[in-house]
This record gives sequence, C-alpha cells and structure tokens, in this order.
Amino acid sequence: MSHMSSEKYEESKLYKIRHSAAHIMAQAVLEMFPDGKITIGPPVENGFYYDFDLPRNLTPEDLQQIEKRMRQIIAGKHDFVKKVVTAGEAREIFKDQPYKLELIDGLEKGGFDEYGNPLQEKPEISIYQDDTFVDLCRGPHVDNTKDIKPDALKLMSVAGAYWRGDEHNKMLQRVYGTVWENAQQLKEYLWQLEEAKKRDHRKLGKELEIFFFDDEVGPGLPLFAPNGGVMIEEIEKLAKETEEEAGYLRVRTPHLSKEDLFIHSGHLPYYAESMYPPMELEGVKYYVKPMNCPMHHKIFGSKPRSYRDLPIRLAEYGTDYRYEKSGELFGLMRVRSLQMNDAHMYVSEDQFEQEFLGVVNLYLKYFALFGIEKYVMRLSLHSKEGLGKKYVDNERLWLKTEDMVRRAMQNGKVPFVEAEDEAAFYGPKVDVQVWSVIGKEFSLATNQVDFAQPARFDLKFINKQGLEEVPLCIHRAPLSTHERLIGFLIEHYAGNFPVWLSPEQVRVIPITDSQNEYAESIVKELRGQHIRVSADISAQRMNAKIRQAQIMKVPYMLVVGENEMTAGQVSLRVRDGSQKNNIGLAEFVASVKEKIATRSPEL
Ligand SMILES: [Zn+2]
Ligand SMILES: [Zn+2]
Repeated sequence: MSHMSSEKYEESKLYKIRHSAAHIMAQAVLEMFPDGKITIGPPVENGFYYDFDLPRNLTPEDLQQIEKRMRQIIAGKHDFVKKVVTAGEAREIFKDQPYKLELIDGLEKGGFDEYGNPLQEKPEISIYQDDTFVDLCRGPHVDNTKDIKPDALKLMSVAGAYWRGDEHNKMLQRVYGTVWENAQQLKEYLWQLEEAKKRDHRKLGKELEIFFFDDEVGPGLPLFAPNGGVMIEEIEKLAKETEEEAGYLRVRTPHLSKEDLFIHSGHLPYYAESMYPPMELEGVKYYVKPMNCPMHHKIFGSKPRSYRDLPIRLAEYGTDYRYEKSGELFGLMRVRSLQMNDAHMYVSEDQFEQEFLGVVNLYLKYFALFGIEKYVMRLSLHSKEGLGKKYVDNERLWLKTEDMVRRAMQNGKVPFVEAEDEAAFYGPKVDVQVWSVIGKEFSLATNQVDFAQPARFDLKFINKQGLEEVPLCIHRAPLSTHERLIGFLIEHYAGNFPVWLSPEQVRVIPITDSQNEYAESIVKELRGQHIRVSADISAQRMNAKIRQAQIMKVPYMLVVGENEMTAGQVSLRVRDGSQKNNIGLAEFVASVKEKIATRSPEL
C-alpha cells in the first residue's frame, strides 16, 4: 500500500490529491468555525492532516459534518489556482490568521518553507485558491477538485499537536484524513489498518506468550518467555547454517568494554547519547556496547593477515544496548537491548562486489523463506556538502565505494532506489525495507560499507605486491535483530508460524482421562524425534482443549480416544481446519519431520 516505486512520493498524483484534500478540509473547518485559525496542512504517508486553533474541541460528529462538506466542495469542480505574491500581499490576505503571518515572516526572511521547515534557498511566496479557500502554499495540487474521488476520502481522527512541535506553544487540534486514488484503494487501506490492529505484535506477542516487559527489569528490555526462546533458537540455527555454508567464522565478544575502545572507534563522544552511561570499576570507565564492530575489528587485527586469508567474515549474535528515549520505545521494534544477526566482512577492493552481492543474496534467500514478496533496497549516498561534517572527508573513496555497491546491485539484478545524503558517517549503506503480507512496512536491516573504521583500527593485510593494504569492511545483519525480526514475523504470520518456527508444533489431546497415559507415550515418542510437543491432560473437555490449542496457534493437534489408543493411531486436526482421522503415528512423525527439515511454509 505504501509508495515504493522509484517515483518520489512528493511528485506523485497521490501526493497532489492528499495535499488538495487538506485544503478542502481546511475550508470546511473554517466554514464551521469562521473565527478558527489555520496553521499547516501537509500530506503525510497514507493521507494528510491540518492543524487548527479552534474555539472548542472537535467531536466525532463534527468530523462527519466536515467530511460531508468536503464531498460537496469536491463536487463543485473548483480549479486550484496558483498565484505568486509579495510578502506584503500575503500579509494582507492572511491578516486574520496569526499563524500564517508567522510563516510569512519565515518565508520572507528565507531559510523556511510555508510549513516552517528549514529550507536551503529563499523561496518565492505563493498562494493557492480553490473555491473560497486560499492557503499559503507552493503546491503541488491537482488541477481541479473533481480529480479527487469523493468516495476515496475519509477523516480518521483528531489529536493534539503543539504549534511547530514545541511544547511551550499552544496545543492545536490536528485532524487526520486519508484519501486514495479510488474507493477500492481506500477500502484496502482501511482493511489493512483493521488487520494490522489484530496482528499487532505487542498484543499477539503477549497472548502467544512470546515476550513481555516488566517494570522492574526496565523499559525497552524485553523478556523472551519459553515460546520466544524457541523462536530465537530456530532463527539462530537458520543463521548459523546459512552463514556456515557461506564461509563465515563465529566469534564471541563481551557485553562491555573499557571506554578506550569506543573512543578509538569514534563512538565516543559522538554516539554517547545513544549509549548507556558508563560504570566505573577500579578507576576505569566501562560501557556496555552499542554495537559489536570494534570488538570484531580487534579480532581481525589480532594477527597478521595476507590477501590469501581474505575475505574474512566474522559473525556473532551480539547483544547490544542502546539508549533510546522512553518516548521512542515501541514494542519489539524499538528496544534498549538487542540481539543482532551481526557480521563484519573484511575484504580487498577486488573482492568487494562479489562479497556484497553474497550478502544481498542472503537477504533474498531469507525473503523467499519467509514469504516476503515485497521489499525495496535503498542505497544511501553521501552529499558533497556533508564531507568533513556528517561524512568522512574522502570524496574519492565515497564515489568509489558508492559505485561498487551500485554495480554489485545492478549486476545482481537487485531492484533498488538511491537516496542522496542519507549515508552513514563512514560509508554508503543499503537499507532494507520489507512489507508484511498485509502490506505494512518494516525497516528490517542495514548493510554498510565502511572505509573509515578499518583505518582507525589500523587494520591491514599484505596484498599480492607484498605491501600493506587497509581492507574494506562490510557490516551486515540480514536477519536484523531478534527483537525486530520476531516483531515482524508475529505480524507477518499473524502468529500462525510455519511448523519449523512454531514454539509448540504438536499438542496431543486425550478425549478422556483413560487416554492420558497413551497421550504421554506419544509425547515421549515425538520428543525423541525432536518435535516440540505437549499433552493437554487437564480436566477440561475435549472441545475446550482444542479451542485452547487453536488460541495458541499450534499447527497440529492429535486427538486420541479409545479407538485411536487401541489401534495405536491418532486423529489429526490441522491449524487450517483440515482433519485426517486414524493415521499411524509413524506416518505423522515422518511428515512433520520433513516439514521441519525443509522449513516448509506448508502445514
Ligand atoms: Zn497546498
Ligand atoms: Zn558493525
């Protein structure tokens, strides 16, 4: 549902539709409150908003009224007309709108746009009019209100928002709306919102007993319950198998180190605000690590390396701690402790393309495994102006590494888009965004090329000419962190995990107490085959037991009664509702083992 093509959202038809709908909404609100004050109303992802200063709070009934009036305005087929004005003319037009007057000051001085956002050049001042409404605006807009489909529009909610986002300013009312190219798109979007609510990983993660937070442990520090523990083990197993095949070497590093290491790496002082405060021990400051790179660099640098040894790929599920502000913590998506599918690859320049492509192919392999069909890789580049400020001051290496990444992606036929001025400090990066089956977007991971850190740590290898050379480093984490990946997978599968990833794969359900012993013997047999299984020998009736297993989304239920016990068989109920009565246990076990071994998406 989100925009993802190479077309910029700001230049898309949808952007114009949403921007225009914001004006129409403002007109409808001003008609309702002639003394109301308007502020700003930009398009946002999936819709638009407008902030108002009104004499009273808006009610749900008001929103219905406003929405109705918007449809009438749309039906009036009004042109959107642009006019360039002087600051003086603008002040005259908006003389009763103090917020607009403040914005006009910013426009006149330069350095700010009509939303009060910083701007490089000094903008021209323009207004747009449709019907009776005039806004301070540089567009773009649709040509005519008729370009908006009245049945593709819906007002969503009202929320408080401070003027200019500053809590010292007045609290305004922000009205959110959504509008799409047609009614069908709106319907899909609303369905997606509903579905996303049901799939919310914070809600499902608790219900399925995967993870939780505890006040005494602290915010942003998730505790994984046994069900989450199983998922973590399975994901690590997947990573280790895959990385072993790709020639990675596994290392282990401590959770904390002396301050010196992070000064050396450059994280201190620049990254200090994202780190936990130090602890002092024997007069020395120690920090818990926010990332694993410096320790891996130490391992690479611990002995002489020759070009024959390269590439060297050091992998670790490293546990890192980052200080995220309390207000920014969000379920498993933004946490303060994270376990990362980390690795650092030390390569020579001529190995770079192949290695980088190898990483990209890992991603594609994982996407296929998890049924992720929609994804985009975004290559973030430096900017010339940022050199020596936000970027390492070495233009030659920037251009060269950016080109190497670009070529690797092109040669690998990997779809990607480019983003100016969004690179990491020490090199270009590729951000990976994925969409869950219901179309919700997640940022999963980042690959970074690093041409600065290896030099800082004095890393080198002896090249073919017998000379010392600094390797390039690729930072990569295709399976992201356990936290983020599990959060994503919960929502992606709505908790209906494939068999290999399901915390509990089989539940045996005896119909009466007389089959409890038989049920326990099946559990023993299956455990011996490394299948995760339990028996429900509670006093509940069979139907309640089945319901319980369904709530926990267990893929297979084996119902055993008198007949099954006598025949040494089971009756299978699958999570998808299908059933198969009186099958031999051995047959069932063989089929489950096959699904697990191949990590099959099928039940
Ligand atoms: Zn506008
Ligand atoms: Zn790293």
